[in-house]
Amino acid sequence: MGGRSGPSHFPDRLSPHVLFVFLDGVGLGPPHARNPMAAAWPGLEQLTCGQRWTCQTQPFFRPQHVFRHLDAALGVPGLPQSGTGQTALLTGFNAPRIAGRHYGPYAHSRTRAVLARYNIFRRLKARGFLVAFANAYPPVFFEQARQRDRWSVTTRCCREADVRLRTLDDLARGEAVAADLTGRRLREAGFPVTPIDEAEAARHLVALLRRYDFVLFEYFLTDQAGHRQDLNEARRVLSSLDRFFSELLNLLDPERHLLVVTSDHGNLEDLRVRTHTRNPVPLIARGRGAEVFRHACDLRDVTPAIVAALETAATPSFRPSPPRP
Ligand SMILES: [Zn+2]
Repeated sequence: MGGRSGPSHFPDRLSPHVLFVFLDGVGLGPPHARNPMAAAWPGLEQLTCGQRWTCQTQPFFRPQHVFRHLDAALGVPGLPQSGTGQTALLTGFNAPRIAGRHYGPYAHSRTRAVLARYNIFRRLKARGFLVAFANAYPPVFFEQARQRDRWSVTTRCCREADVRLRTLDDLARGEAVAADLTGRRLREAGFPVTPIDEAEAARHLVALLRRYDFVLFEYFLTDQAGHRQDLNEARRVLSSLDRFFSELLNLLDPERHLLVVTSDHGNLEDLRVRTHTRNPVPLIARGRGAEVFRHACDLRDVTPAIVAALETAATPSFRPSPPRP
């Protein structure tokens, strides 16, 4: 074998395969009539041991299952934004502090160096893990992003880490997932996409997990529904997510997989306001290695914990015992 030091040639059962589902704009707020998260969502509640996703749900730590409230404000005044929040999530650095304020939706110029060097894809690849970004993008996305040099934080991470951005061809082969899970929006926009249901989208993600140590999927309809303050739209989005997570949890094996779900800032949980909120965001870690998340407090704690979950699970049996003195 070559000099590859990474764990991907280790027997499969030793290291978890990590699926990170990033939900944009989902906070934990007080339950009230304009908080759609406070309704009953059985699929989502499977992730929180039958409890609703509100600020009243206490954090818990059970074997292979952790639920935390993460601070998204990071000691910086003002309303958290996606550019700095996602950078904090995907690097472990206090991006709003580096930028001097909450900034978004794109990466702030002062955080780009950190994003380039320390993003989760890069850190995992440097350790020999195989990584993938599951979202499928239509050709127009690449054209517009290139023309304006405006890449979302996640696609910027991919570019910096040489992770391939998936296309509609990948989607057609079942090797990617549309941003809305089903592909209906792409279809409505005129792209040659055959919509699937949420259960099928979950199957596609789990199929990717067989080939990669780490898979990221980004979902932003939650944030969009929050900005629109439309309760019916919010319910449609949550019902779609609910179906997705129900099937995902059927498919994932907690002995082999680690599911991580979190967000960059609040929004959807308070439709009384059009803006983001300063509410904490939920963090769910479920499956092999979830314990490493039990002390997570803010957005910066997610990337280091994912790295630790992959490393600690992958290495112990292979580490030779230290020589006796
Ligand atoms: Zn937003």
